[in-house]
Amino acid sequence: MKKSKRGKILILGGGLAGLAAGFELAKANKSVEVFEKWNEVGGLARTINVGGFRFDTGPHRWYTKSNMVNDWMLKLLGPEVIKVPRLTRIYFDGKFFYYPIKLLNALFGIGIARAFMAVFDYTRARLRARLFKRKLVTLEDGYINQFGQTLYKTFFQRYSEKLWGEKCIQISVDWVGQRTRGLNILTILKDIFFKSGTVVSLVDEFSYPKDGVGRIAEKLASEMKEYKGVIHTLADVTKIFHDGKKITAIGVKHKKGMKRYEADFVISSIPINDFCLALTPLIDERILQLAHKLRYRDELQVALFVKKTHITPDTWIYVHPKEIPFMRVMEMDNWSDGLSPKGTTSLVFEIACNEGDRLWRKSDKEIIKLVSRSYIEEFHLIDDRDIIRGYVHRVPKEYPVYHIGYRQDVKEIKLFLKRFKNLQLIGRNGTFRYNNMDHSIEMGLYAAWNIIKGRKLYDVESVNIEREYLEEKKIENVEDKKLENEKTS
Ligand SMILES: Cc1cc2nc3c(=O)[nH]c(=O)nc-3n(C[C@H](O)[C@H](O)[C@H](O)COP(=O)(O)OP(=O)(O)OC[C@H]3O[C@@H](n4cnc5c(N)ncnc54)[C@H](O)[C@@H]3O)c2cc1C
Repeated sequence: MKKSKRGKILILGGGLAGLAAGFELAKANKSVEVFEKWNEVGGLARTINVGGFRFDTGPHRWYTKSNMVNDWMLKLLGPEVIKVPRLTRIYFDGKFFYYPIKLLNALFGIGIARAFMAVFDYTRARLRARLFKRKLVTLEDGYINQFGQTLYKTFFQRYSEKLWGEKCIQISVDWVGQRTRGLNILTILKDIFFKSGTVVSLVDEFSYPKDGVGRIAEKLASEMKEYKGVIHTLADVTKIFHDGKKITAIGVKHKKGMKRYEADFVISSIPINDFCLALTPLIDERILQLAHKLRYRDELQVALFVKKTHITPDTWIYVHPKEIPFMRVMEMDNWSDGLSPKGTTSLVFEIACNEGDRLWRKSDKEIIKLVSRSYIEEFHLIDDRDIIRGYVHRVPKEYPVYHIGYRQDVKEIKLFLKRFKNLQLIGRNGTFRYNNMDHSIEMGLYAAWNIIKGRKLYDVESVNIEREYLEEKKIENVEDKKLENEKTS
């Protein structure tokens, strides 16, 4: 069927949020184009293929509290989805600890004196939290409130500071609630003795596309094209034209130069501050200032292709010591067989840094050497002869940094952008929200359905706002599930 020329929809950014929206719109026979600045789609959730080694851009497991989004993903990938048992551990002081923290393992591992302090501190912190409702502001407040001083200093402080490159008192507490499973002793005991069955842990096993997480984006892109949607890669959106009430067009830098695309609707998943700075004519000075205030943490991802398999039993390991440059390492063959040639695997190391800093500026060769040396010397699991080669993937804007007060800043920016009636913001950096894949997809679906239905029925901003830990969900009763399906059908 021929697409109508009217109602041209432009989607900025070809990560999962943008692609989910593009796929739904193309399927509904809308005229839709996606603009992605890199040479491939998928954004933060890609699988890179280097000489037959397929490795993910960081550990990406699929888990979601939304049955609707889960069903949507299963329908998209069908039999490609496998179940992967999860083992993740923390490494420090030469020892491994389970993560999420298992109380007894942690207490035995840290030694009698520290264990005693940990129990004491933990009890004190929980009592305090119950008795006095204190306003929690920083990451440090949040961790101490949940775990007490000793467990915070032992298990969370070093890693957080490695990840953010800042002190825990400089980052907002908002990051803690959703990312860290608390030690709710009552829940643990209830689970052991009564098996209430009302809480499902999404921790122990997860879904995963057997050929790598990038399959979600690859499949979305190919299906979108089947439905005659258009995807431009190496298409950097640098100008966003507006008349004060609507976004009228975008200016895109292609290899062959700039090109202007007229717009009836715009869905943007590019970083919200880049979006503001690209607005032409220039906007309110105050909003530009706020846009400049938003920061991101960047990352170097280093893959080592190794002539060994199942080097550890872990899907990934958090590495705490400061002297070790990487903060996490994942082993691809513990996710899925067949991602690497027989008898080999890829180890993927993550180094948090800031674009342009000392580490970022090192050559690929230096970075590979730094990582392989450090891994070999610390863990003694492989030696130089096992390494076939290495590969460095540089990822800008990987983590939105929740600076103290960011919430108010982002709110003000979003309020300002509301004047553009044909604009919807989606995605992780697009909304400056610490999204997982499911959240970004859900936002993309909502934005697309709003355009298809001709009115804003779905609230993109309602996605990923629960403060509850993301890896546990209450089992809805059948009626809840029916209701959810009705809302989305
Ligand atoms: C290391 C790591 C591990 C993760 N683990 C998990 C996990 O286990 N489970 C999970 O569910 N989620 C996980 N996530 C989160 C998940 O990757 C993201 O939520 C999701 O991929 C975000 O998709 P998005 O489309 O919102 O954003 P992005 O992927 O950032 O997509 C935005 C796109 O816009 C493009 N872009 C930016 N500027 C421009 C411009 N000016 N012009 C054109 N294009 C532009 C970017 O190149 C990018 O492709 C993880 C993320 C990271 C980094």
